[in-house]
Amino acid sequence: MNTVTRKRLVAGNWKMNGSRNLASEFISALSAFSSETVDVVLCPPAILISSFEQSDVIVGAQDVSQFDSGAHTGDLSVSMLADFGCKFCIVGHSERREDHGESNELVAEKALKVLEAGMTPIICCGEPLSVRESGDVKDFVRKQLDAVFTHIDVSLLGNAVIAYEPIWAIGTGKTASPEEAQDVHAFIRQYIAEKDSDLSHSMLLLYGGSVKPDNAEALFAKQDIDGGLIGGASLKANDFIAICQAAN
Ligand code: PEP
Repeated sequence: MNTVTRKRLVAGNWKMNGSRNLASEFISALSAFSSETVDVVLCPPAILISSFEQSDVIVGAQDVSQFDSGAHTGDLSVSMLADFGCKFCIVGHSERREDHGESNELVAEKALKVLEAGMTPIICCGEPLSVRESGDVKDFVRKQLDAVFTHIDVSLLGNAVIAYEPIWAIGTGKTASPEEAQDVHAFIRQYIAEKDSDLSHSMLLLYGGSVKPDNAEALFAKQDIDGGLIGGASLKANDFIAICQAAN
């Protein structure tokens, strides 16, 4: 059971979905949810971020450039995201790693940019099915974390969040069991403790991978699961709010 007093965080990742109408629907739906203990953030496609500008919804981006400005067609810098009110930015989502060949090192560079801009990176890690089946999950995740902790001084990581997202569970309807997820989360927390004990107590660890209203509570009840990164279910206001309530 999760008896720790870390705040909870539920982040919605709309991926390449949504519209201005959906943004309006979420602005009114989320205005009815308030909690002292759960922070909620929505990460819509970048083109929709400004649709939330006049609302109380906390927004994040789904990716950012590692560069500050200049000749990088199609990319967005951290200062642009900050200018449009983003407080969070997902980095290293498995779909970015897969579609755009993002390496562990590049993900770490992006996370540092986000931190330097005063925003919170949601740093994703997690293994493909082949690694789960071969039993090397912790080695795989350790390498992903090593890149982050090598590139970024631990003193800067207080504002970072880590999301464990087993790739075989993303968008597949196959969720890691609460025990499987907790096992990796406990490993991640122990990894952080070896770098900095205080940070290991305070850092939020999210689980992502087919979280739905009917499995969220059991996942969030685990000691080292502090909330979720939600894909498909973050596109339906009722489902998303039910998941936020499960974290409450
Ligand atoms: C995600 O987009 O990070 C995700 C976990 O998606 P889903 O909840 O649909 O599995």
